[in-house]
Amino acid sequence: MTTQVDLILAGSTVLTVDAASTVIQNGAVAIRDGVVQDVGTARQIFARYRATDVIDSPGCTIMPGWVNTHTHLAMNVFRGLAGDVTLEEFLDRLVKAELQVLNEHMVTVGARAAMAECIAGGTTTALDMYWFPQAARRVARENGFRLLNGPTFMGDADPEGRDFEGMIERAEVILLENRREAANEDLWVMPHSAYTLSKDQLERIRSLAARFGARINTHVSESSGELALVDQLHNDRPLAVLADAGLVGPRTVLAHAVHLTDAEIADIAHAGSTVAHCAVSNLKLGCGIARVPELLREGAAVALGTDGAASAGTLDMFLAVRMAALLHKGVSEDPTLISAERAVRLGTVDGARGLGLLSVGTIEPGMAADVQVVRTSTLGAAPTADPWSAIVYGSGASDVQHTVVNGRVAMRDRVLQSIDEGKTLEELVTVAASALAAVGEQRRPRPPIRRQSSR
Ligand SMILES: [Zn+2]
Repeated sequence: MTTQVDLILAGSTVLTVDAASTVIQNGAVAIRDGVVQDVGTARQIFARYRATDVIDSPGCTIMPGWVNTHTHLAMNVFRGLAGDVTLEEFLDRLVKAELQVLNEHMVTVGARAAMAECIAGGTTTALDMYWFPQAARRVARENGFRLLNGPTFMGDADPEGRDFEGMIERAEVILLENRREAANEDLWVMPHSAYTLSKDQLERIRSLAARFGARINTHVSESSGELALVDQLHNDRPLAVLADAGLVGPRTVLAHAVHLTDAEIADIAHAGSTVAHCAVSNLKLGCGIARVPELLREGAAVALGTDGAASAGTLDMFLAVRMAALLHKGVSEDPTLISAERAVRLGTVDGARGLGLLSVGTIEPGMAADVQVVRTSTLGAAPTADPWSAIVYGSGASDVQHTVVNGRVAMRDRVLQSIDEGKTLEELVTVAASALAAVGEQRRPRPPIRRQSSR
């Protein structure tokens, strides 16, 4: 007798990312009601189950979807607004543009395009800090993307024109709505940072979060410029300011955490907060390199993020994972740091744990069926003697063939199933062009490259 399931995914290799990092050759995954029912060899799974739908993917690796623990999804409408500049200049241009032109429609369009980019690149979950959070939630619901977000606070800045009191009131309405809609899900409150919020505002936000039992997502110690700014504003370091306001605990995700002292690394480990390491954004903005090996050595929770597409250029988690594996080896001259297997764990299960998602991030019975199927029988990745290396060093977002979120096929044979990719791309480009025109940002032609005469 075989048991009926909804979907069976079969492939050459399954990376379960369970506690033992079990790898199954010629493996398959049975999925029912959005949950992994069983995982084993294809022979075992087909002997035990019959499925309404079977996706057989020879030459592919089946693994958990990526968990992006820090991003600003709809910021993709400002992609290219400020490239090759410092964090401070980037923020100056970005926030001016957001306050001037951002609206709910732009966030809807941007979030849809961003979720399409995520799904197409194997990302199934994202923690998203951005304006008009309810618009992004609607898009996520329509397309079955696992989105976590909440009200964002950035000092007196609000594209909807409210003062801080108004923002707190609006946040309460949002949190009540979110609690009603997703009773089993944790709520989130997102104070931007110590450099954009006063002590009083940070404390108001902490008390709001406490009233709702919400988790916290914030930025900390991203650049030297931030450290100087926070010193000026608060006469202290960013982590201390946030900790004094009661915002650093086991339910906090700290984005970046690049410039940390030894004592701060110990403090983060002790507090049980998760650091969202965003290497690509840190490199592109010239912010420095987070002390990830030291954080891991100290026992701190580390996960990976892309940051927004306007600062990082892309929401590609393959790049985030590869960078996490490469960067620290090079900087420390130690190739044993952050193995490929560890990097995959950081991008999947460790991210899910950091977000409080206990049933996401591995392929085991009872876990949410958030799965990506990646073609690894490619010129860039084959032979796959080390299946972890094949993913981390040899594969990229465009190698993802199928993406499943909560048991629902979101992309099949690289075709998005609920998002019209062409239309979404067109809308994104249109909205972004009108935004750039409205903020008067004319793309300056680059000076011609002067070739050096070869003597
Ligand atoms: Zn950020």
